Amino acid sequence: MQFVDEARIFVKAGDGGNGSVAFRREKFMPRGGPAGGDGGNGGSIIFQADPQLGTLLDLRFQQHHKARSGEHGQGRDRYGKSGEDLILRVPVGTVIKDALTGEIVADLKKADSRCIAAAGGRGGRGNIHFSTSTNQAPREAEEGTPGEERTLIVELKLLADGGLLGYPNAGKSTFIARVSRARPKIADYPFTTLTPNLGVVALSGDGRSFVLADIPGLIEGAHEGAGLGHRFLRHVERTRVLLHLVERSDEPGRDPMHDWEVINRELALHDEELARRPQVVALTKIDLPDTREAYPALKEAFAARGVELLALSAVTGEGVQPCLERLWARIAEARRKAAAPEADPVA
Ligand code: GDP
Ligand code: MG
Repeated sequence: MQFVDEARIFVKAGDGGNGSVAFRREKFMPRGGPAGGDGGNGGSIIFQADPQLGTLLDLRFQQHHKARSGEHGQGRDRYGKSGEDLILRVPVGTVIKDALTGEIVADLKKADSRCIAAAGGRGGRGNIHFSTSTNQAPREAEEGTPGEERTLIVELKLLADGGLLGYPNAGKSTFIARVSRARPKIADYPFTTLTPNLGVVALSGDGRSFVLADIPGLIEGAHEGAGLGHRFLRHVERTRVLLHLVERSDEPGRDPMHDWEVINRELALHDEELARRPQVVALTKIDLPDTREAYPALKEAFAARGVELLALSAVTGEGVQPCLERLWARIAEARRKAAAPEADPVA
């Protein structure tokens, strides 16, 4: 099972500047030679794989990208300045396709690998290049060539960095809806009864983003058929961090600490390793008076187990940012470890 992030973007490389037709005009040289400089080259559109990035969020929000054109050549042998290349940073593993032909333009598998997706136009030559023994005053110069333009489909197979755990009704779906800026597509999804709920979370600032996936298989999936929950869990086996949501409930037998233990037990039954994944634990629905009142005692009870209990409301937004920052800190740490030279290569 795979999550796919996809963006459709339009790119236009810069045009080449025109060559210039000009002549030297000096006081005592009435018929100076040609002095028209070349136009500058247009900037290209270049993709670069950046291991810091995890999603295509930036490309989804900005879909048009244009590199600068080269300047035209000028008189007195002045060459036009070249347009700067435009570098679009994308996560490692990004595949770039031409939207019209379906042709794969690039498959950026390695950190810092690059490809030119649209080449800048060439600057035209100025008339200084056209003088010959028979024509000392050429009126000829070239025009710059246009920069390439194309529509691209950019695709990335996503890894879910964060898995969401919790009882039914704990507020998982509401939380994802609150924090996500975009929804990845789900490819090769074999089940129709349960669809994982996932979203791309963007933190404020510098392009930090990660994918958060609901894990509905644990309790909710149990009645759907033997093994379903387990097969479900496969896609979160590689999550780096778990966000475990608990709620205060009036239902008999329910209690945040109890719920937390039940879910952790289920998790350990399925996969010991997943159960050892770092967890951020948060009490949801803190906007409800009963919950707010119960929080201090619950916080203490969790602290006694060595767990920091955060509190948040997906409805009002209270406590949501600190929780995301906490998740991010763990995810960033895990990503760094995974990218370290001695780390096992990700399969
Ligand atoms: P899930 O089963 O864990 O996905 O839970 P849902 O997100 O579907 O939420 C269950 C119910 O709790 C819904 O009626 C939500 O509107 C409500 N809910 C979720 N988060 C909050 C919250 O922060 N505050 C309040 N007051 N209600 C919430
Ligand atoms: Mg739900």
